Order: sequence, then C-alpha cells, then structure tokens
Amino acid sequence: TLSIMWFRRDFRLQDNAALYHAVKETQHRNEPLLLVYHLDPVFTTNDTPNHRFFFAALDRFIKRCEKQGIYIHLVEGTWQEAFNRILEHFPEVTSLYYNQDEVGAGQKRDKEVDKFFIKRGIRVSSYIDYTIHGANEVKKPDNSIYKVFTPYFKKWMAQPKRDPYILTKEDLTIDNIKNDALYSKGQNVLSNLIKVSDQDLIPHEEAALEVLNLFLKKKIDEYDRFRDIPSAEATSRLSVHLRTGTISARTVLYHIQEKQQTSYSTGMDTFIKELAWRDFYNMIFHYYPESKTKEIDDKYQKLKWNDNQDLLDLWKKGKTGFPIVDAGMRQLAEEGWMHNRIRMINASFLTKDFLMDWRLGERYFEQMLHDYDEASNIGGWQWAASVGTDAVPYFRVFNPITQSIRFDTKGEYIKKYLPELVGVSEKNIHEPWKMDDHEQEKAGCVIGKDYPRPVVDHALQRKKAIQMFKEL
Ligand code: FAD
Repeated sequence: TLSIMWFRRDFRLQDNAALYHAVKETQHRNEPLLLVYHLDPVFTTNDTPNHRFFFAALDRFIKRCEKQGIYIHLVEGTWQEAFNRILEHFPEVTSLYYNQDEVGAGQKRDKEVDKFFIKRGIRVSSYIDYTIHGANEVKKPDNSIYKVFTPYFKKWMAQPKRDPYILTKEDLTIDNIKNDALYSKGQNVLSNLIKVSDQDLIPHEEAALEVLNLFLKKKIDEYDRFRDIPSAEATSRLSVHLRTGTISARTVLYHIQEKQQTSYSTGMDTFIKELAWRDFYNMIFHYYPESKTKEIDDKYQKLKWNDNQDLLDLWKKGKTGFPIVDAGMRQLAEEGWMHNRIRMINASFLTKDFLMDWRLGERYFEQMLHDYDEASNIGGWQWAASVGTDAVPYFRVFNPITQSIRFDTKGEYIKKYLPELVGVSEKNIHEPWKMDDHEQEKAGCVIGKDYPRPVVDHALQRKKAIQMFKEL
C-alpha cells in the first residue's frame, strides 16, 4: 500500500500540517509516500508575473527536496486527469493527505477531489494549514460569523493556538517513491514555466526563517511606529513566504509569542493583528465565495463604475500625475510587491478618484503581485472601494496629496521609483505641477513633458464619488 501527499501552496517541510501527519502515519503503517504537485493548466497557461514567481518558488522547493532524497512528482492536466494517471501508475494507493483550500476555486475543487477518492475507497485527510485559524474556527457564540474585524480579532486571540508541527531529522528521511518517467516529465513541464532570473528573490524555507528572524531582531519592536512609512522598510516582507508557504503563519506567530514572553513590545501586538487580518479575509471569502466578482454589501452591486481604458492604462503605467500613486504602481511593476499603505492609497485612487471598478484593480494586482492572496486582495479592494464588510465609509475618501505628505514627507519613496522627480524639492514633491518655470528648470523636470500633470482634479472627483454612492 501507499499514501499520497499533495502539495499546493505549502512549499516547506517543517510545520506543514498535512506533511507532518502523512509522514508520521505512514511511518506507523510502514508504508511509503508518493509526493505530488498538480500543475493546473488554468495557471500554467496564464503567464503573469504572479504565476512566474509562484512556479519559480515551486521549482526551488522541488530542487531543494531532491537534494534530500525527497521527490515531488509534478502531474499536469485537470485534477481528474492528473489523479487518474497517478492511480493508473499506483493502484495500491490507500490514503491522500493535503492542506485545505478554504476559499475560491480551490475550495470547490477540494470537495470534488474528496468525493473522487472516497468513491474509490481511498481515505482523505485534510488540514487547516494556510491560516492560523480556519474559516470555521472563529465564530460568534450563536455560530454566526463576524463581519467586523475588532470583535473577530478579540475572539481570534482567545482561541487556543496550535504549536508548529515539527518533523525530526529522522522523520525527514522520508520513505518516498520516485517514479523516473513521471518525475522527469513533470520537471520538463515546469522548466518551461520558470522565467524568473533573479534566484535571490525566490522564496524558500531557510530564507523565510532568516527574514522572520531578522524582522524579530531588528524591526518588530518599532513595527507600530514605522509600518506606514513606505521608505522605512519597516514591515516584515513575509507576504511572499506566506503566499508560497515557505513559512507558515503558525510558525510566525509562535516565534513572536515566544519572544513576547521575554521582551514584550507594542509592535508585536500590532503585527499579530495583521496576521489576524489575513485570517479574517480568508473567513470572509470562504463565506462570500462570490466576492471576487460581487460587492459583499449588496446595496452597492448597482454602482455604475467608470471603465475608461485610457485612465486604467495610465494608472497601470504609473502616469497619473500623482507622485505617491505613480511611485506605488512603478514599485509593483518593478518588484511584484507594493507597500501596504500605498496599496490602500492606490485602491482608493482607482475607485474614488478615477471612479473605476474595483474588480479591474483587483485583477491587475492579481497578475502583478508576487504575494497575491485572493482573499486578502479582494478584501483590500472591497475595503478601499467601500463595498465590502468592515470597509472604509464611502464619504471618507483618501486624499493622495495629504497621504503623501503624511507618510512620505520627504518624498524618499516617491524619488526611489520616479527618477524623473529626483531633483524636485521637498516642498514640491507631493504636488510637482505647482512648480513654476524656474523651479521646474532647477528640478530638471518639465511638467507635462518629463512628468505628467494630474489627470484628474482630486477635489472634484471626490465629490463625484460621494455622489455616486449617495445616489444609491
Ligand atoms: P507586514 O506589514 O509585515 O504584515 C505581515 C503579514 O500580515 C503580511 O505578510 C500579511 O500576510 C498579513 N497582512 C498584513 N496586512 C494585511 C491586510 N491588510 N490584509 C490581510 N493580511 C495582511 N496581502 C497579501 O498577502 N496579498 C495580497 O494580494 C494583498 N492585496 C492587497 C490589496 C489591497 C488593495 C490592500 C489594501 C492590501 C492588500 N494586502 C495583500 C495586504 C497587505 O498590503 C500585504 O499583506 C502587505 O503589504 C505585505 O507586506 P509585508 O509582508 O511586509 O506586511
């Protein structure tokens, strides 16, 4: 007999709930494991920076495992094709282990996969692993869900936390099968998908722990003070690791709480709250599976958003004429990542200054973000567009100029991503269109030529946005 461990977005060997149980239980049964990853054509045929990055992380994981004698077989096709092929090769399979997807297409697929295996007499064991608390673990006393974050968080904190699932060195000499034909076929498919050249950027398990340790040592104590300042590099940058699963949220929390016992700081509390936001949005998307396309607040489903493609293109290119907005979009294009405060400013800008459909922004972020997390991204966009649960009230519109003055006072972040504004003074950096001819000459930046004039009038657009909501 034989068991399957199916990897998804959990590219690590330690503190991986499904792998832990698969290893321990098959050891007990004296049975080998077959390790697999399903390459879904929905993703492999959609060449975006997000997917390229994800596949590069997968490739790295597989290569690192290979060095330890652990072989992950990549199987292509629909999941039905993939598993039928596996069962043809290995009819002796008795159980399947995986970490659950509680949201999106993955959630739907998991239910069907369970049926497929159970029908064939194969046992299925699946685990909550992507989040600290699963979608059904934090509920009101009457078993309904929290739609507002603060009471959710209170309950989330009070729930007992699982310790990391640690495999010993001996456990990690996993008794696993290598099928040469299947293995090399998968490798060939994957190698065609890898287009990320800078190997240093690609997440892996050891790097994730280094990032966490560095953050705990140098940054977490001041996280609450500086996390909103994009030039301060004061956030953890763990999002790409959490997204590819090179570290688990459980491990991150465990290390923070451990440190908290000896050297407490308020930064730690703020950071833990951010991890809970990730769980909150996972729970919301689980209960609102249509929220990728529909506003959670149904009264806003009738909003008449603008879909001016020219404006959308200017936004994507970082050429709106609002430096803080443009700097963010250029950071996204260059790095596949954007600072949280700037994501908020940008999502507000697209929806309230351009009055454009939040779905267009959500989709663009989906293509571009290396840390793309469907639940958090939808949550962030619906929050900014004032159409989701616990969203910013529609009449509180972010002002891109005052946000810029407040969070990038000296324009350091702006200048990092907008080289055309490097010579602009601190006084003019937030509103460069106000420079007179002399100032433009001194700054080496002609407005309208080197850097665009603002394409909209914020005050006017703000009024229009509020009106659009009020009319409903
Ligand atoms: P840190 O500040 O160090 O936070 C630590 C971790 O907490 C993050 O890695 C993340 O897992 C979690 N977290 C922090 N803030 C949030 C939040 N507001 N919502 C949910 N989780 C949070 N985050 C994603 O991981 N993927 C996305 O696709 C995504 N899209 C977003 C879209 C919009 C419009 C907005 C406003 C926010 C979005 N976020 C998303 C949340 C947040 O911007 C990122 O998690 C954060 O910038 C990642 O950088 P970091 O790891 O340095 O964050």
